Amino acid sequence: MIPLRLKIETEAIDPYVVRLRSFEGVAHDTPGLSSFDAVLGNATRESAEFYGEDRSLRVFGIDPSDVNGDVLFVVPGRGTAHRLIRANSRHNTLLVTERCDQLCLMCSQPPKQQHVDMFPFFETAVLLSPENATIGLSGGEPTLFKSELLEFLQRMLSARPDVDFHVLTNAQHFDRDDVTKLGKLDLNRILWGVPVYSSNPEIHDRIVEKPGAFGQVREGLSVLGHAGAKIELRTVLMKPNAAGMTDLARFVTTSLPFVDKWAIMQLENIGYGRQNWHSLFFDSSKGFDAVGKALDFAISRGIDAMLYNFPLCTLPPDYRTLAPSTISDWKRSYVSECAGCGLRDDCGGFFEWHPKAHGYERLGLT
Ligand code: SF4
Repeated sequence: MIPLRLKIETEAIDPYVVRLRSFEGVAHDTPGLSSFDAVLGNATRESAEFYGEDRSLRVFGIDPSDVNGDVLFVVPGRGTAHRLIRANSRHNTLLVTERCDQLCLMCSQPPKQQHVDMFPFFETAVLLSPENATIGLSGGEPTLFKSELLEFLQRMLSARPDVDFHVLTNAQHFDRDDVTKLGKLDLNRILWGVPVYSSNPEIHDRIVEKPGAFGQVREGLSVLGHAGAKIELRTVLMKPNAAGMTDLARFVTTSLPFVDKWAIMQLENIGYGRQNWHSLFFDSSKGFDAVGKALDFAISRGIDAMLYNFPLCTLPPDYRTLAPSTISDWKRSYVSECAGCGLRDDCGGFFEWHPKAHGYERLGLT
């Protein structure tokens, strides 16, 4: 797995953001380098030393060429640095908060009460990110800090006209006043990922463990739709909602025809998803009918429906083109059945933490 947290040593005391430049011998006054850049000095098998304008940073366990252009959030007191932006990756996500007002049965990042305002550090990170990046914002629930989030987006969209954003939100906190506020943003450059698990309010509310959540998410989607926001509906496929996929497809096409995409997603075995794995994991390799009919229905009515996180060989051949490789590079892995597979180049495989007993009756039969 690609490490997102690195061991470091520095003489600095307070947390700070830095961009690593691995061109050995580059002088610090080289044009194109900013005061946030640290250039590579000595490197050994164990560690590499980077020199900024007024402090140095020793990073352990990396090949300097793998981190060139990466933007780190350095926490000296803990001896760690978080790779906020990896220059060579399309999968960079900034965690706005660990707080959330839902307790979804499959949550991969179970909520915590503590919150640290990271927006000032994230601003620097976005400004230092590579050209034409798409940056994810997630949580917890980012819109618990809605004003700060919208202001952050406005500043960053204006400062970096080449950067796009993908915001994951439960859409529980938008109200009519937000139509105007959202309208001030360049909404063509933000995709709002919003989970809806069922067309049945009771099932949706039970999955997110919040009474009234279904009504609230409909209101939030309506606000986003009125503002002209781009919306990606996200539905994790699980035992509690699998049988209702066709009903959900009908609901999407009739009540939410303004969404840009609908993604049906396989379950991730981490956080609450791991705790509840046996009551949630739905083997779509043998029960694909429910999903296939929903996809057919949605697509026939003009919805751009997709499959995320599905190993290609578990899908009937006709549906594989709907399943791009979506698992982030740092948490993607393959299993023994994948050796020599002809589909591997296009297949997103598994989450690194997927159980060895993978649960698919049909796997590797391409
Ligand atoms: S065998 Fe592995 S690489 Fe091939 S399609 Fe299945 S999961 Fe993907």
